[in-house]
Amino acid sequence: MKVIDHINQAKGTLISFEILPPLKGKGIQSLYKLMDELMEHKPSFINVTYHRSEHVFKKTATGDFKKVIVRKRPGTESICAAIMNKYDVDTVPHLICGGFDINETEDALINLNYLGIDNVLVLRGDAAKNETNFEPEPGGHKYAIDLLRQVNNLNAGVYLEEDLKHSIRTKFCIGVAGYPEKHFEAPNMETDLQYLKQKVDAGADYIVTQMFFDNAKYFAFVKACRDMGITVPIIPGLKPVYSKKQLTVLPKVFHIDLPTDLSNEMIKCKSDEEVEKLGTEWLYQQSVELKKSGVPVLHYYTIGKPGVVCDVVKRLQ
Ligand code: FAD
Repeated sequence: MKVIDHINQAKGTLISFEILPPLKGKGIQSLYKLMDELMEHKPSFINVTYHRSEHVFKKTATGDFKKVIVRKRPGTESICAAIMNKYDVDTVPHLICGGFDINETEDALINLNYLGIDNVLVLRGDAAKNETNFEPEPGGHKYAIDLLRQVNNLNAGVYLEEDLKHSIRTKFCIGVAGYPEKHFEAPNMETDLQYLKQKVDAGADYIVTQMFFDNAKYFAFVKACRDMGITVPIIPGLKPVYSKKQLTVLPKVFHIDLPTDLSNEMIKCKSDEEVEKLGTEWLYQQSVELKKSGVPVLHYYTIGKPGVVCDVVKRLQ
């Protein structure tokens, strides 16, 4: 079932989770253990992130360095299918521009369609680990909107091979990313929102936000989107804090601010256990306020401490 249908048929705020494919070599059982816990909270859908290959330099026996390609977390599409089969829950694979040319993207979409997956979250992806700026694959897409248009084409039965006759139409529901604190490459919020509106006008069914720790930022973002004429559901993305390291890691990696009240309290904490307690309460209070305001879905990023997320969702229900 499509995410947008879940939202349209819901009587209240839904719950969803984002999970990562296991590290290569770990097997799927560790993921099933996490899924067993998450399913207790009756999520409407599960997002599975996509992780592109990285170039790394490995030292050889002779002391030289050899450039090798490593893919640390493969399997997004098959994990989605495995989860759907085992848990009877809808899944949303993340699909990125980076590392794919348009033929590979089409193959990936055809595979998802064969697997019975109705949803995709279309994203550009970040720069590869060894690159400063995002570089599209030769023959690949530069922006998420270009990928979105390819999904639209397939939804209209238009494949890359123009002479294909009587091709089936896929029916993907399309989500896109939005940034309450602005995407870090955008020159300003206004420009970022204009590009977001283009994605929605091109056919995105809903928006999922980058994590934020200050609900006021989400509310201001939703208002700015509505003022611009963006009418699709805007799903807040939420993550707990649970370690002192996050004081610097979260702003650096995700280009977001921690509110002063939260950072001051984190600084005072004597251990990560104390930060986790604080983070659990902060996430709970954020969730209560968002739910009260009538958000369509509370979408939780489970990487790191899924137990915190589960505790919060349990208290909410
Ligand atoms: P875009 O919408 O293409 O925007 C990228 C930048 O270009 C923005 O600054 C925008 O303002 C600008 N822009 C957009 N369109 C145009 C245009 N036509 N002309 C000029 N400028 C333009 N990354 C992964 O690798 N795997 C994942 O699984 C993953 N999951 C994510 C889930 C969520 C909910 C979010 C919020 C992010 C996720 N990311 C993931 C990270 C994401 O790939 C990065 O944030 C990336 O830098 C931008 O992706 P986007 O889809 O927002 O890009």
